[in-house]
Amino acid sequence: MVQEARRIAQLPPYLFARIEKKIEAAKAQGVDVISLGIGDPDRPTPRHIVEKLVEEAWNPENHRYPSSAGMLSFRQAVAEYYKNRFGVELDPAREVVSLIGSKEGIAHISFCYLDPGDIALIPDPGYPVYGIGAMLAGATPYIMPLKPENNFLPDLKAIPEEVARKAKLMFLNYPNNPTGAIADESFYKEVIEFAKEYDIIVCHDAAYQEIAFDGYRPPSFLEFPGAKEVGIEFGSCSKSYNMTGWRIGWAVGRADVIDALARIKSNIDSGVFQAVQYAAIAALTGPQDCTREMSEVYRERRDIVIEGFNSMGWNLKPPKATIYVWAPVPKGYDSISFAEHVFEKTGVVITPGNGYGQHGEGFFRIALTVEKERLIEAIERMKKNLGPFEF
Ligand SMILES: *Cc1c(COP(=O)(O)O)cnc(C)c1O
Repeated sequence: MVQEARRIAQLPPYLFARIEKKIEAAKAQGVDVISLGIGDPDRPTPRHIVEKLVEEAWNPENHRYPSSAGMLSFRQAVAEYYKNRFGVELDPAREVVSLIGSKEGIAHISFCYLDPGDIALIPDPGYPVYGIGAMLAGATPYIMPLKPENNFLPDLKAIPEEVARKAKLMFLNYPNNPTGAIADESFYKEVIEFAKEYDIIVCHDAAYQEIAFDGYRPPSFLEFPGAKEVGIEFGSCSKSYNMTGWRIGWAVGRADVIDALARIKSNIDSGVFQAVQYAAIAALTGPQDCTREMSEVYRERRDIVIEGFNSMGWNLKPPKATIYVWAPVPKGYDSISFAEHVFEKTGVVITPGNGYGQHGEGFFRIALTVEKERLIEAIERMKKNLGPFEF
């Protein structure tokens, strides 16, 4: 039998396999499962975006191979969005590249810069692709713990000098999945200074930059002086416009980094279906009310969850952004045992925090991607069948 490559053997075991088996078994027995596990927007893509796709799907010019870097008009639309939304100037030809969803670019950036033995700085808990991309490239991830006492920001001063000197990439993600944390100007300035001092490329993942509440407007990393000299930002239509299935995103920022990513991509993929690029142009340059309306929907759901858990003994502060609530497990449980306990007693699925890294242990994540009636039902079941809890 042909042996699988070492890089496959290195992939972490799939942590949710056991809980998924339980879900399937419960469903087969007729349990009304409420899944708060998956961060996938439940509402449909706004109509004007779907209509643009349909119109462009009929155009035979769009039936051919697209360019792997994206149509210039798409890259111009991304640049226009950055100008209008963040006041950031981008050269569409040199500082923007299309992605088949931002996950694709996040995985491939490691192949552009990391050789075996190189170091990438990885936030933990975090979106698993940062560390896995680095590992698949043969590099060594160095974990930056995100702790509640630091408002889930990495402590750059805690990174040993020799690690900082060797590191080539630093991944960051604010507003943050899974913690819901946000970053402010002073943090980004510290990051830029650090990246300059140690010659590190910052890869900022801004997947949630349009999902925010209570008047908060997440900044772009590129807004801050010097950012474009040290890094890039990943963006996506997925969460902003309920377009996770469409597979379109972008990377923007430092021209030579964008060029390296585009070169790797041109050897691996052949870009995004042009009709999808046209739909994304409609999303980015069209009316933005849809993002504000969706944020309001998530805000209402967030408040139901926060109020519900706080009435059961938690002491959670409402997150200012993202589609998640991140919370500690009660005394006597770890991430997995608490998620299993909740599921067995209520049929409600929550995500154990250790799925996002070792520093996610002791936490769980709730995704606000079900209608509020279902969320209210989930909270009612928990109040009736769980607890009392100690923390
Ligand atoms: C959802 C998500 C993405 C977006 O992925 P796409 O490939 O653009 O759909 C990127 N980063 C994080 C942290 C996410 O949660």
